[in-house]
Amino acid sequence: MPGEAGSIDFPRSFGYLFILRFSLIPREGRARAGVLETDRGEIKTPVFMPVGTQGAVKAVEPRELEEIGAQIILGNTYHLYLRPGTEIAEKAGGLHSFIGWDRPILTDSGGFQVFSLSSLRGISEEGVEFRSHLDGSLHLFTPEKVIDFQRSLGSDIMMVLDECTPFPCDERYALESHLLTLRWAERGRNQKEKTRPLYGRSQLLFGIVQGSTYGQIREQSAQALVGLDFDGYAIGGLSVGEPVDVMYSITELCTDILPSDKLRYLMGVGTPENILESIERGVDMFDCVLPTRNGRNATLFTRNGKLNMRNASHADDFSPVDSECECYTCRNFTRSYLRHLFRAGEIMALQLASLHNLSFYVWLTREARDAILDDSFAMWKKEQLSRLSTEITEPI
Ligand SMILES: [Zn+2]
Repeated sequence: MPGEAGSIDFPRSFGYLFILRFSLIPREGRARAGVLETDRGEIKTPVFMPVGTQGAVKAVEPRELEEIGAQIILGNTYHLYLRPGTEIAEKAGGLHSFIGWDRPILTDSGGFQVFSLSSLRGISEEGVEFRSHLDGSLHLFTPEKVIDFQRSLGSDIMMVLDECTPFPCDERYALESHLLTLRWAERGRNQKEKTRPLYGRSQLLFGIVQGSTYGQIREQSAQALVGLDFDGYAIGGLSVGEPVDVMYSITELCTDILPSDKLRYLMGVGTPENILESIERGVDMFDCVLPTRNGRNATLFTRNGKLNMRNASHADDFSPVDSECECYTCRNFTRSYLRHLFRAGEIMALQLASLHNLSFYVWLTREARDAILDDSFAMWKKEQLSRLSTEITEPI
């Protein structure tokens, strides 16, 4: 049956568990609370995915991710394909086993990094040719190959190859690019149907809506992808420099078209405010490097806004980073000590800051879910937005 990919891939007699459904708890408004069941457990949405670019969430251990309640992490196919390579991933028994993480993993298709990191050689109907940013070696990613790579990695959610257009983007280019991305999406879906998981666990495949900031192209993209019947849908090509109100209106336009019984993933977004606004517009899943990247740069998220831990005002502040946060960092350490660690260049500063920031993002989406289930999301969101912009006036 379309949409239940697992049941196509595996007859029950194989002994695989193949519950693949996104059950939605209907509520008023667009904000949704759902459960995605995968072979590696349930994912309760809305959900934030910590980014584990190279098979590691920077400065945070898997056991810490479990402790803060991270349900799923993201891995980047481009990086993992170049290093350690799919052969090592397969010898290790897949990415989960290689990196010591047995909860779900989503892998992107590699497209975004090909366009942003590598030295691009050319895009053709066949795929995208590029030189590695590591050693200059020449590679070709095709829609079929990126599915094969993700089969080697064994991720629970795979993504199709797409072209993420930059901002601003010429309308004609956005249209042609969307049409190419659509043809690639169909080839990716066909390749998934032709191949099987290597490690006995079902793998979902998501399509990606593109079309830059052009509403009509976005509509075409979303409708055509729905026609291809993916297991879930991502909204790509946003948070690339466009005004925030454009990001919200395009997101809303997409969630209006995408089927309500499939998961929606807004790629690479964003700030706590962006996440709350997008949940309100019907998005279920997020990833962003902000919590870890900002953490390593001494910027910490709190319920009352951002803190710059290098700021002198923290020198003798013996309160926790966020008095309402229950993470290891906030339970055990003070702002004063964190400031000291950053100033002293201690590695632990990066670990404690990243752990807290991820904990904050995981808390934010978990609380959003509770508020949705409690029919109080609109009020709760308003309160959080007001708090996020109040207390902190420090230079970041
Ligand atoms: Zn904390």
